[in-house]
Amino acid sequence: MRIAAIIVAGGGGSRAGLPAGAPPKQYAPIAGRSALARSVSAFADHERVDDVICVIRHGDEASYAAACAYASRKVRPPAYGGATRRQSVLNGLRAAAALAPDAVLIHDAARPFVGAETIDCVIDALRDADGAIAAIPVVDSLKGANGRVIAGAVERDGLWRAQTPQGFRLDAILRAHEAAAGAGREDFSDDAAIAEWAGLRVALVLGSETNWKITTPEDWARAEREARMAQDFETRIGSGFDVHAFEPGDAVTLCGVRVPHTHRLSGHSDADAPLHALTDALLGAIGAGDIGDHFPPSDMQWRGADSAIFLAHARDLVLARGGRVVNVDVTILAERPKIAPHREAMRARMADILRISVDRVGLKATTMETLGFIGRREGLAAMASASVSLPAGSAR
Ligand code: MG
Repeated sequence: MRIAAIIVAGGGGSRAGLPAGAPPKQYAPIAGRSALARSVSAFADHERVDDVICVIRHGDEASYAAACAYASRKVRPPAYGGATRRQSVLNGLRAAAALAPDAVLIHDAARPFVGAETIDCVIDALRDADGAIAAIPVVDSLKGANGRVIAGAVERDGLWRAQTPQGFRLDAILRAHEAAAGAGREDFSDDAAIAEWAGLRVALVLGSETNWKITTPEDWARAEREARMAQDFETRIGSGFDVHAFEPGDAVTLCGVRVPHTHRLSGHSDADAPLHALTDALLGAIGAGDIGDHFPPSDMQWRGADSAIFLAHARDLVLARGGRVVNVDVTILAERPKIAPHREAMRARMADILRISVDRVGLKATTMETLGFIGRREGLAAMASASVSLPAGSAR
C-alpha cells in the first residue's frame, strides 16, 4: 500500500499566543526543532510512509524551507493552503493524488509529538475501512452547562476525542472533499466529519495522550518542557585543518582578527585559515561535508569574503538541527606573526560568531621549530576540533 502523509501547516496559529513578529506556531522552535519539522520527521521517518506533502501558507516559503532543509527525500514540494482548513486539505489531497498513493494520512502540524505506533495503528485499520482516525475515549465526566452552572450530565459512553492522523483511501476522501467543496460546506471540524458526511466508514483507533495539539499560549511552554524531557542528545565531534601561503602584504586575518604582519595570506576569501579549519570541524561534527561544498572557491561572490560568514553558516546548520556548539579548540601553526598578543581578541571574536561563551573557545599557537614550509615561513596552518550536542537521530 503506497501511503502519502499530508501535514497541514496552513494556519497562522494565532491562538497559540506567540509574541508579535514570531513565526507562525508551526515554525517556531520547540526545544530547537519546529512543530512542523517534528511532524514531518514523524511521517518521513516512518518506514510505511512513502511521501510527505506539507500544506503551507503563501509567504511562509522561507520558514518552510528552513524547517524541512534536512528532512528526508520523501518530502515532496509543498502545496498551498486555502482560506479554510477544508480548502487547505483539499489542495493537499490534489497534490498527493499526483503521486497516486493508495491512502493518505492527514495530520495537523500542531501535533508534533505523534508516535510511530499511532501512525501504524491508523494504517493497519485502513485494511478494513475507508478511513481510520486516531482518537481517545473520553474518561472525564461530561457536564452540560448553562453559563457557569451545570445543566445536566452528558453521557460519555461512546464518546471519543478525535486526533490526527486521520487516514483514508485516497480516492474515497478526495471524492468526499470535492463533494464538500462543491456543496460549499465549511462547517466540518475535521476530515473524518467530511468522510462521515460522504457516507464513508471511518474506524476509530486508539491514539495517544502524548499526541496532543498545541493550541493555547500555555501549551507552548508545555510543549517545550515535554520535548526537552523526551529528547535524547548525543555528543558529536569534528576536526578541521587548513593551510594558506604567505604573499607580500601588510596584515593577516586570523580567527577573525586583523593582525599586522610582513605578509598577507593568499586565498580566495580573506584566507583566515583557523576559521576555515574551525568551520570544517563544525561541518564534520554534523556530517555536512566541508567548507568547499558550501562555499565553492569557483564562486566569485566569496572573493575576499570575511570568513566569519562561513563559520556563522556552519553554526546555523548546527542550530537548525536543534543542536548547540559545546566547545571548540583551535591551534595555529606559524612561526610568525606572534599570536599571544591577539589571543583574547581572537577567542572573543570566535565566541561572538559562534554565540557561545569565551570559556568554550580554546586557542593555542605553536611554531614548527623552523622545520618544513611553516618553519620556512612560506605559509601557516591551523587545526581545529569542535564538539556539538545534537538531538539523537535528528541529522537526516
Ligand atoms: Mg582555507
